[in-house]
Amino acid sequence: MEKREKLYEGKAKIMYATDDADLVIQYFKDDATAFNAKKKGTIDEKGIMNNAISCKVFEFLGANGIPTHLVKKLSDREMLVKKVEIVPVEVIIRNRAAGSLCRNYGVQEGKILSRPIFEFCYKNDAFNDPLMNEDHVVGLGLATEKEVARMRELTMKVNELMKKFFLALNIELIDFKIEFGRFKGEIILADEVSPDTCRLWEVGTGVRLDKDRFRQDLGNIKEGYQEVLKRVTGK
Ligand code: ADP
Ligand code: UDP
Repeated sequence: MEKREKLYEGKAKIMYATDDADLVIQYFKDDATAFNAKKKGTIDEKGIMNNAISCKVFEFLGANGIPTHLVKKLSDREMLVKKVEIVPVEVIIRNRAAGSLCRNYGVQEGKILSRPIFEFCYKNDAFNDPLMNEDHVVGLGLATEKEVARMRELTMKVNELMKKFFLALNIELIDFKIEFGRFKGEIILADEVSPDTCRLWEVGTGVRLDKDRFRQDLGNIKEGYQEVLKRVTGK
């Protein structure tokens, strides 16, 4: 497998082509953004940590019946993945209230939700990733009704699996964002699962082990990622 040209550079990752048209390399950067890139910075070695954490989570989900884009971890910062056509929605699941749910609905941070809240946001920075419902997703032609149902089904399973995965590491999964893509007619999990895309609170202490340390200037930002990495890899 040969690494070829840069296809796309995003806020946190760079995608490279390979000599196989079905595969791309996902390169994880140290750049960090929040509030739709209004806040910018870098977190030393974040790319290395997020690549390692994402690979472990995808391996776990794959072993438990969730189709993912992971092919294999290539290096510290590189993951070989199936090249998908990204469905341009961010899928969010919340188990406890945090972030925009608190801002938009006046809910106390940490409130346990009586059932997980499933959200779609339009993946479009120019419009601030607005919240949308299933009718928007289908009506705007972003995904079919069948794809929406499949994304919901997979996301609910991912939530149950990841809650257990993190709880075994004494971490509570508060909420997360995932992205799906189309690969050979199938909907599969793509992008990343890391402290950039999940809210992770230590059980008992409530210590934040995720990007909220950066968003809210809580200090020890790198240490939060390191702690998750340590627990996920057992090293
Ligand atoms: P952003 O585009 O939001 O700045 P990133 O810096 O994470 O985000 O860039 C990675 C881009 O690659 C995202 O747009 C993501 O949707 C896309 N992507 C993730 N996984 C795949 C994949 N397997 N195939 C093609 N594109 C992918
Ligand atoms: N999230 C993400 N990327 C986004 C928006 C949200 O990974 O562009 C994740 C975020 O890390 C959190 C969950 O999705 O785990 C819910 O985020 P929320 O809507 O509360 O957003 P925020 O408070 O960051 O605006």
